[in-house]
Amino acid sequence: MAVRYAHVAHNPGAVSEADWGVAHKKKIGMTDTTYDNSTELDPRIAARLKRDVKGLVAAVIQQYDTHEVLMVGYMNDEALRRTLTTGRVTFWSRSRQEYWRKGDTSGHVQYVKGVSLDCDGDALLVEVDQVGAACHTGKRSCFLEGGPLPVVEGHRPAEQQNGLS
Ligand SMILES: [Zn+2]
Repeated sequence: MAVRYAHVAHNPGAVSEADWGVAHKKKIGMTDTTYDNSTELDPRIAARLKRDVKGLVAAVIQQYDTHEVLMVGYMNDEALRRTLTTGRVTFWSRSRQEYWRKGDTSGHVQYVKGVSLDCDGDALLVEVDQVGAACHTGKRSCFLEGGPLPVVEGHRPAEQQNGLS
């Protein structure tokens, strides 16, 4: 399965969207029926979240086939539950203090393809199919809008160039 997923990841046009979804769910060891998020976030998922003082976790939003990193938003338990169950990404807006379903006003909808939790539960990776721009400025990615900062580039020494990834 890992081999197939790698193939999918690098050749998104080679498989149907449905096949990608099946491969993804097998990869993460989870099916739609494993958890019950119908009325509240499943307690087994909620127990794994490490929320900040405002009850939020960061959500990195990535285009599922090209792997572009599009934006970062924040979710509380209910926003995550909606994201897991409705096919649409929902955030908690820290500025407006309300749920924010991406695309409702802009048309720039994010269709959910997969959601993963990181090792210590304080961040989510949400793979989506992004319609149009992810950034409110009209840029595809918020990181294109912000742009690069000056950086001193690092290089691995010779002894790390073989046999290590
Ligand atoms: Zn932005």
